Amino acid sequence: MKYHDVIVVGGGLAGLRAAIEVNMHNLKAAVLSKVYPIRSHSIAAQGGINAPLGNHPRGGYDSWERHAFDTVKGSDYLADQDAVVTMIKDASERIYEMEHWGCPFSRNPEGKIAQRPFGGAGFPRTCFAADKTGHMLLHTLYEQAVKYEQAAERGELKIYNEWLITRLVVEDGVCRGVIALELATGNLEAFKADAVVFATGGCGRLYSNSTNALINTGMGMAVPYWAGIPLKDMEFVQFHPTTLYGSNILMTEGARGEGGYLTNNKGERFLANYPDSRKAMEVAPRDIVARSMTTEILEGRGFEDAYLHLDLRHLGEEKIATRLPGIRDICRKFLGIDPVDEAIPVQPGQHYTMGGIDCNKDGASRVKGFYAAGEAACVSVHGANRLGGNSLLETIVFGKIAGEHASNYIAAKADLGAGDKALADALAQEESKLEKLLGSDGPEDPSVLKEEMQNLMRDNVGIFRTKEGLSEAVPKIRELRERYKNIRLRHTGRSYNYDLMWNIELGGSLDVAEVVIAGALAREESRGSHFRRDFTKRDDDKFLKHTLAYYTPEEPKLEYSDVSLGYWEPKERKY
Ligand SMILES: Cc1cc2nc3c(=O)[nH]c(=O)nc-3n(C[C@H](O)[C@H](O)[C@H](O)COP(=O)(O)OP(=O)(O)OC[C@H]3O[C@@H](n4cnc5c(N)ncnc54)[C@H](O)[C@@H]3O)c2cc1C
Repeated sequence: MKYHDVIVVGGGLAGLRAAIEVNMHNLKAAVLSKVYPIRSHSIAAQGGINAPLGNHPRGGYDSWERHAFDTVKGSDYLADQDAVVTMIKDASERIYEMEHWGCPFSRNPEGKIAQRPFGGAGFPRTCFAADKTGHMLLHTLYEQAVKYEQAAERGELKIYNEWLITRLVVEDGVCRGVIALELATGNLEAFKADAVVFATGGCGRLYSNSTNALINTGMGMAVPYWAGIPLKDMEFVQFHPTTLYGSNILMTEGARGEGGYLTNNKGERFLANYPDSRKAMEVAPRDIVARSMTTEILEGRGFEDAYLHLDLRHLGEEKIATRLPGIRDICRKFLGIDPVDEAIPVQPGQHYTMGGIDCNKDGASRVKGFYAAGEAACVSVHGANRLGGNSLLETIVFGKIAGEHASNYIAAKADLGAGDKALADALAQEESKLEKLLGSDGPEDPSVLKEEMQNLMRDNVGIFRTKEGLSEAVPKIRELRERYKNIRLRHTGRSYNYDLMWNIELGGSLDVAEVVIAGALAREESRGSHFRRDFTKRDDDKFLKHTLAYYTPEEPKLEYSDVSLGYWEPKERKY
């Protein structure tokens, strides 16, 4: 049995930042990741990261109060305001830390970190490194992690590449470690730890039309859910307005921040026709823009009834080449068009998971020693709708905080290193589950189940939702869960068996999808990204509260908890 003081699951921005923090506390940290860390979805982030630096002349008066208020308003007042304040007050320090660690941010003419406008602020607040911000941030943190892995000064930092966590071990309300599958050998192993931090990213691939990496299956949320930790606010799924038509590859909000237009088949900038986006136009929050776009398409003002245009031509070649080189590259490679000469065909697509593992602003959950950070967690700082650029910020702020609180918890813990029996029992149970799956010879093809789940989520649990559509989705997802019990794997070897990995994860995806559906059906109001055609108004009397979903073998059990207010009273959201 392996032992580390703190095990961090996930090698993306949140996970690496947490592990570095544990290391700074002179403890032994291990990062376990199912992919090599720089293949985590963080690498794909394009547009930027928010902080009230006030470096741009138009944003010179920016402050933590303004940024925090914009975040709360953007969240449609569902975010926990104390958590938002914590995040924004820490934002500038975390950005400068990344700068000092070598992150090559784009610069303004004065040589300061450049900022561009994103949704929700109305002026430039988003720091960026061209349109490859996630790439630059993740490489910067990975360099730091590798430095401490090799230097062995301070504590220890070990990275386990290509290990899939299948189970969280909790004994009498205390976290004891995890069970993980080594992909190279196909062997399961128990990892004992005094604290565990989950930074496993989002679950975009519950949907077929997603900007997310294929690895964002939701398994990292299912594992703590199965161990008794509730998932919070999972019905809030963000649809990004501009994804490439057909493939749903992201076309960053930065393209609109730099001045790009959205136009319909009449050549109109149609956002002017919608009261919610009339003023902010292309940089109104994502939920608002995505709904207006879908309405345009449904009412026949799209192209081929499927997409609209993102027009960058008026920005000119130089700006496109320096500020949006990745966008130009993707358009050339995937569509054979150059945005300097042609408008880009775009449609809304699933993009971000506002909900996640229930935890507080210290990253702590209700299980002692278990923490969560990044997109997998629901602190909650995004509430019902996340502002573009706030998610990268969340990863480095709350990654650090979770690492710090996990370290402090260990310093005060009495029974360090306990849990051998619970871990050995869990390992034996996981072994027999694995044997069963490898020997399964049922009639169901799991790839068909996955496709049916993804299409069901797209069609019935998308941008516009109704009672009929959601009620229909409930028996369908249960049927898929039943059929999953009778799957057959194509490949039954142990070493690098990706068929095995994907299909273990499918079990997690199906359970998490059921939570999204249950939460959406129960929430009879429209708030942020959750829009019900049958309940079109926000209902603060009944639903100014967080949804908590607990696992039971039959179905998720829903409870609700209060939203932390205290700074700003909920108001109508207008842009
Ligand atoms: C295309 C795209 C562009 C984006 N652009 C922006 C942007 O410009 N600005 C912004 O603020 N946000 C952006 N976002 C959102 C932001 O990038 C993510 O929310 C953030 O990077 C998530 O980081 P993370 O560390 O929480 O998770 P991730 O980077 O997703 O990492 C998750 C890690 O968990 C590991 N893992 C998961 N499950 C398991 C398991 N069971 N066992 C072992 N390991 C596991 C994975 O291997 C991975 O290392 C974008 C997202 C996408 C998809």
